[in-house]
Amino acid sequence: GRGSEVAIEVTDVAVEFGGSRAVDAVSLTIERGSIVGLIGPNGAGKSTLLNTISGFQPADGQFVIDGVDVTRWSADRRARAGLGRTFQDARLFPQMTLRDTVAVAAAGRERSSVLLDGLLPPRARRSERRIAERTDAAIALTGLSGYADRPCSVLSTGTRRLVEMACLVAGGGRVLLLDEPTAGLAQREVEAFPVLLRSLRDRLDATIVIVEHDVAMLAQVCDRLVCLELGRVIADGTPDDVRHDPAVVESYLGT
Ligand code: ADP
Ligand code: MG
Repeated sequence: GRGSEVAIEVTDVAVEFGGSRAVDAVSLTIERGSIVGLIGPNGAGKSTLLNTISGFQPADGQFVIDGVDVTRWSADRRARAGLGRTFQDARLFPQMTLRDTVAVAAAGRERSSVLLDGLLPPRARRSERRIAERTDAAIALTGLSGYADRPCSVLSTGTRRLVEMACLVAGGGRVLLLDEPTAGLAQREVEAFPVLLRSLRDRLDATIVIVEHDVAMLAQVCDRLVCLELGRVIADGTPDDVRHDPAVVESYLGT
Protein backbone atom coordinates (compact mmCIF):
# COMPACT_ATOMS: atom_id res chain seq x y z
CA GLY A 1 0.00 0.00 0.00
CA ARG A 2 0.88 3.69 0.37
CA GLY A 3 3.73 3.06 2.76
CA SER A 4 5.60 0.77 0.39
CA GLU A 5 9.27 1.62 -0.12
CA VAL A 6 9.13 0.04 -3.54
CA ALA A 7 7.34 2.04 -6.23
CA ILE A 8 7.65 -0.44 -9.08
CA GLU A 9 8.39 -4.13 -8.98
CA VAL A 10 8.26 -6.09 -12.23
CA THR A 11 9.09 -9.76 -12.41
CA ASP A 12 9.89 -11.87 -15.45
CA VAL A 13 8.38 -9.46 -17.95
CA ALA A 14 8.35 -10.76 -21.52
CA VAL A 15 6.89 -9.45 -24.78
CA GLU A 16 7.09 -11.20 -28.13
CA PHE A 17 6.45 -9.54 -31.47
CA GLY A 18 6.14 -12.05 -34.30
CA GLY A 19 8.32 -14.63 -32.60
CA SER A 20 11.13 -12.30 -31.50
CA ARG A 21 11.45 -11.14 -27.93
CA ALA A 22 11.32 -7.35 -27.54
CA VAL A 23 11.44 -7.75 -23.75
CA ASP A 24 12.98 -10.93 -22.41
CA ALA A 25 12.64 -11.96 -18.75
CA VAL A 26 13.18 -8.49 -17.26
CA SER A 27 12.91 -8.16 -13.48
CA LEU A 28 13.40 -4.78 -11.81
CA THR A 29 12.72 -3.23 -8.43
CA ILE A 30 12.55 0.57 -8.31
CA GLU A 31 12.59 2.35 -4.98
CA ARG A 32 10.08 5.07 -4.16
CA GLY A 33 11.48 8.54 -4.77
CA SER A 34 14.25 7.40 -7.06
CA ILE A 35 15.06 8.64 -10.55
CA VAL A 36 16.07 5.74 -12.78
CA GLY A 37 17.44 6.13 -16.31
CA LEU A 38 16.72 3.43 -18.87
CA ILE A 39 19.31 3.32 -21.63
CA GLY A 40 20.28 1.01 -24.47
CA PRO A 41 20.57 0.98 -28.25
CA ASN A 42 17.59 1.55 -30.57
CA GLY A 43 15.31 -1.47 -30.54
CA ALA A 44 16.55 -2.64 -27.12
CA GLY A 45 12.99 -2.75 -25.78
CA LYS A 46 12.96 0.43 -23.65
CA SER A 47 9.67 1.84 -24.93
CA THR A 48 8.05 -1.60 -24.91
CA LEU A 49 9.07 -2.09 -21.28
CA LEU A 50 7.52 1.29 -20.30
CA ASN A 51 4.38 0.28 -22.22
CA THR A 52 4.09 -2.95 -20.24
CA ILE A 53 4.37 -1.04 -16.95
CA SER A 54 1.74 1.53 -17.95
CA GLY A 55 -0.48 -1.30 -19.17
CA PHE A 56 -0.65 -0.29 -22.83
CA GLN A 57 1.28 -3.36 -23.94
CA PRO A 58 0.06 -6.80 -22.83
CA ALA A 59 2.93 -8.85 -21.43
CA ASP A 60 3.83 -11.94 -19.50
CA GLY A 61 5.10 -11.36 -15.97
CA GLN A 62 3.99 -9.66 -12.79
CA PHE A 63 3.59 -5.92 -12.12
CA VAL A 64 3.39 -4.44 -8.64
CA ILE A 65 2.98 -0.67 -8.20
CA ASP A 66 3.17 0.85 -4.70
CA GLY A 67 2.79 -2.60 -3.21
CA VAL A 68 -0.38 -3.37 -5.19
CA ASP A 69 -0.45 -6.13 -7.79
CA VAL A 70 -1.75 -4.37 -10.93
CA THR A 71 -0.91 -7.18 -13.35
CA ARG A 72 -4.54 -7.58 -14.40
CA TRP A 73 -5.37 -3.87 -14.35
CA SER A 74 -6.11 -1.90 -17.54
CA ALA A 75 -3.92 1.05 -18.55
CA ASP A 76 -6.72 3.39 -17.52
CA ARG A 77 -6.98 1.90 -14.05
CA ARG A 78 -3.21 2.03 -13.61
CA ALA A 79 -3.24 5.71 -14.64
CA ARG A 80 -5.97 6.49 -12.10
CA ALA A 81 -3.84 4.83 -9.43
CA GLY A 82 -1.05 7.36 -10.10
CA LEU A 83 0.95 5.88 -12.96
CA GLY A 84 1.71 8.73 -15.36
CA ARG A 85 3.14 8.24 -18.81
CA THR A 86 4.36 10.70 -21.45
CA PHE A 87 4.46 9.93 -25.14
CA GLN A 88 6.95 11.09 -27.69
CA ASP A 89 4.49 13.44 -29.41
CA ALA A 90 2.79 15.81 -27.01
CA ARG A 91 -0.85 15.59 -28.12
CA LEU A 92 -2.36 18.91 -27.12
CA PHE A 93 -5.45 20.70 -28.42
CA PRO A 94 -4.05 23.67 -30.37
CA GLN A 95 -6.81 26.18 -29.52
CA MET A 96 -6.83 25.45 -25.80
CA THR A 97 -4.71 27.60 -23.51
CA LEU A 98 -1.92 26.03 -21.55
CA ARG A 99 -3.84 26.64 -18.31
CA ASP A 100 -7.03 24.98 -19.60
CA THR A 101 -5.01 22.02 -20.88
CA VAL A 102 -3.52 21.45 -17.45
CA ALA A 103 -6.92 22.09 -15.81
CA VAL A 104 -8.43 19.23 -17.84
CA ALA A 105 -5.80 16.89 -16.41
CA ALA A 106 -6.47 18.21 -12.89
CA ALA A 107 -10.23 17.77 -13.39
CA GLY A 108 -9.73 14.18 -14.52
CA ARG A 109 -8.16 13.43 -11.18
CA GLU A 110 -10.98 15.22 -9.37
CA ARG A 111 -13.57 13.12 -11.19
CA SER A 112 -11.85 9.89 -10.29
CA SER A 113 -11.61 10.85 -6.62
CA VAL A 114 -15.31 11.79 -6.63
CA LEU A 115 -15.99 8.34 -8.05
CA LEU A 116 -13.88 6.75 -5.36
CA ASP A 117 -15.69 8.78 -2.71
CA GLY A 118 -18.85 7.07 -3.88
CA LEU A 119 -22.01 8.68 -2.64
CA LEU A 120 -20.65 11.97 -1.28
CA PRO A 121 -22.68 14.96 -2.50
CA PRO A 122 -20.96 16.85 -5.35
CA ARG A 123 -19.47 19.97 -3.76
CA ALA A 124 -18.95 21.62 -7.10
CA ARG A 125 -17.52 24.94 -5.98
CA ARG A 126 -15.00 23.45 -3.60
CA SER A 127 -14.01 20.98 -6.24
CA GLU A 128 -13.53 23.77 -8.79
CA ARG A 129 -11.28 25.63 -6.38
CA ARG A 130 -9.23 22.47 -5.81
CA ILE A 131 -8.86 22.01 -9.57
CA ALA A 132 -7.72 25.62 -9.98
CA GLU A 133 -5.21 25.29 -7.13
CA ARG A 134 -3.84 22.04 -8.48
CA THR A 135 -3.59 23.57 -11.96
CA ASP A 136 -1.69 26.63 -10.74
CA ALA A 137 0.64 24.51 -8.61
CA ALA A 138 1.49 22.20 -11.52
CA ILE A 139 2.09 25.17 -13.84
CA ALA A 140 4.35 26.85 -11.29
CA LEU A 141 6.27 23.65 -10.56
CA THR A 142 7.08 23.16 -14.24
CA GLY A 143 8.09 26.81 -14.67
CA LEU A 144 5.26 27.60 -17.09
CA SER A 145 3.50 30.46 -15.29
CA GLY A 146 4.60 33.01 -17.89
CA TYR A 147 2.86 31.10 -20.71
CA ALA A 148 -0.33 30.00 -18.95
CA ASP A 149 -2.75 32.06 -21.04
CA ARG A 150 -1.27 31.25 -24.43
CA PRO A 151 -2.90 28.76 -26.79
CA CYS A 152 -0.95 25.54 -27.12
CA SER A 153 -0.55 26.14 -30.87
CA VAL A 154 1.99 28.94 -30.27
CA LEU A 155 4.15 27.01 -27.78
CA SER A 156 7.58 25.67 -28.72
CA THR A 157 8.27 21.94 -28.76
CA GLY A 158 10.13 22.28 -25.47
CA THR A 159 7.30 24.16 -23.80
CA ARG A 160 4.79 21.58 -25.05
CA ARG A 161 6.88 18.86 -23.43
CA LEU A 162 6.72 20.78 -20.17
CA VAL A 163 2.95 21.12 -20.55
CA GLU A 164 2.78 17.34 -20.73
CA MET A 165 4.80 17.12 -17.52
CA ALA A 166 2.48 19.69 -15.90
CA CYS A 167 -0.51 17.54 -16.92
CA LEU A 168 1.06 14.50 -15.27
CA VAL A 169 1.62 16.49 -12.08
CA ALA A 170 -1.89 17.99 -12.09
CA GLY A 171 -3.34 14.54 -12.78
CA GLY A 172 -1.79 13.22 -9.62
CA GLY A 173 0.83 11.00 -11.23
CA ARG A 174 3.29 9.78 -8.60
CA VAL A 175 5.09 7.18 -10.66
CA LEU A 176 6.18 8.89 -13.88
CA LEU A 177 7.36 7.04 -16.97
CA LEU A 178 9.03 9.43 -19.42
CA ASP A 179 9.95 8.26 -22.90
CA GLU A 180 12.65 10.50 -24.41
CA PRO A 181 11.21 13.67 -22.87
CA THR A 182 14.05 15.89 -24.09
CA ALA A 183 13.79 14.88 -27.76
CA GLY A 184 13.42 18.07 -29.79
CA LEU A 185 14.28 20.39 -26.91
CA ALA A 186 16.69 23.29 -27.25
CA GLN A 187 20.04 22.84 -25.50
CA ARG A 188 19.15 25.27 -22.70
CA GLU A 189 15.91 23.36 -22.12
CA VAL A 190 17.82 20.08 -21.90
CA GLU A 191 20.18 21.71 -19.41
CA ALA A 192 17.23 22.78 -17.25
CA PHE A 193 15.66 19.32 -17.32
CA PRO A 194 17.59 17.73 -14.42
CA VAL A 195 16.46 20.56 -12.15
CA LEU A 196 12.83 19.99 -13.17
CA LEU A 197 13.05 16.23 -12.57
CA ARG A 198 14.58 16.73 -9.14
CA SER A 199 11.94 19.23 -8.13
CA LEU A 200 9.18 16.85 -9.27
CA ARG A 201 10.75 14.10 -7.26
CA ASP A 202 11.26 16.25 -4.18
CA ARG A 203 7.95 18.13 -4.22
CA LEU A 204 5.71 15.19 -5.16
CA ASP A 205 7.76 12.37 -3.69
CA ALA A 206 7.52 11.04 -7.25
CA THR A 207 9.34 8.06 -8.67
CA ILE A 208 10.64 8.68 -12.18
CA VAL A 209 11.75 6.26 -14.90
CA ILE A 210 13.23 8.09 -17.85
CA VAL A 211 14.28 6.70 -21.24
CA GLU A 212 16.87 8.98 -22.73
CA HIS A 213 19.82 8.88 -25.10
CA ASP A 214 21.70 11.73 -23.43
CA VAL A 215 23.63 9.64 -20.91
CA ALA A 216 25.60 12.63 -19.60
CA MET A 217 22.32 14.34 -18.71
CA LEU A 218 21.02 11.15 -17.11
CA ALA A 219 24.19 10.76 -15.07
CA GLN A 220 23.55 14.20 -13.56
CA VAL A 221 20.06 13.41 -12.36
CA CYS A 222 19.66 9.64 -11.97
CA ASP A 223 20.29 7.62 -8.84
CA ARG A 224 20.58 4.57 -10.99
CA LEU A 225 20.92 3.51 -14.63
CA VAL A 226 19.60 0.32 -16.19
CA CYS A 227 20.88 -0.69 -19.62
CA LEU A 228 18.81 -2.93 -21.90
CA GLU A 229 20.10 -4.79 -24.92
CA LEU A 230 17.95 -7.12 -27.03
CA GLY A 231 15.26 -7.00 -24.38
CA ARG A 232 17.51 -8.00 -21.50
CA VAL A 233 19.07 -6.06 -18.64
CA ILE A 234 22.83 -6.04 -19.29
CA ALA A 235 23.82 -3.55 -16.57
CA ASP A 236 22.15 -2.04 -13.51
CA GLY A 237 23.82 0.24 -10.98
CA THR A 238 25.08 3.74 -10.28
CA PRO A 239 25.45 6.00 -13.32
CA ASP A 240 29.24 5.84 -13.08
CA ASP A 241 29.33 2.06 -12.83
CA VAL A 242 26.93 1.58 -15.73
CA ARG A 243 28.57 4.17 -17.99
CA HIS A 244 31.90 2.43 -17.58
CA ASP A 245 30.62 -1.14 -17.68
CA PRO A 246 32.45 -2.89 -20.54
CA ALA A 247 29.26 -4.51 -21.87
CA VAL A 248 27.51 -1.13 -21.98
CA VAL A 249 30.45 0.60 -23.62
CA GLU A 250 30.59 -2.11 -26.25
CA SER A 251 26.88 -2.35 -27.01
CA TYR A 252 25.95 1.27 -26.83
CA LEU A 253 28.35 3.99 -25.88
CA GLY A 254 31.43 2.82 -27.71
CA THR A 255 29.99 3.28 -31.20
P1 ADP B 1 13.55 1.01 -27.95
O1 ADP B 1 12.49 1.87 -27.33
O2 ADP B 1 14.57 0.54 -26.98
O3 ADP B 1 14.18 1.67 -29.14
P2 ADP B 1 11.31 -0.68 -28.68
O4 ADP B 1 10.74 -1.10 -27.39
O5 ADP B 1 10.61 0.42 -29.43
O6 ADP B 1 12.85 -0.32 -28.48
O7 ADP B 1 11.38 -1.93 -29.65
C1 ADP B 1 11.93 -3.18 -29.26
C2 ADP B 1 11.78 -4.16 -30.40
O8 ADP B 1 10.40 -4.47 -30.59
C3 ADP B 1 12.28 -3.64 -31.74
O9 ADP B 1 12.85 -4.71 -32.44
C4 ADP B 1 11.01 -3.14 -32.41
O10 ADP B 1 11.13 -3.20 -33.80
C5 ADP B 1 9.97 -4.12 -31.89
N1 ADP B 1 8.64 -3.55 -31.76
C6 ADP B 1 8.30 -2.51 -30.96
N2 ADP B 1 6.98 -2.28 -31.02
C7 ADP B 1 6.46 -3.18 -31.89
C8 ADP B 1 5.15 -3.46 -32.37
N3 ADP B 1 4.10 -2.75 -31.94
N4 ADP B 1 5.00 -4.48 -33.24
C9 ADP B 1 6.07 -5.23 -33.66
N5 ADP B 1 7.33 -5.01 -33.23
C10 ADP B 1 7.53 -4.01 -32.37
MG1 MG C 1 11.84 3.84 -27.76
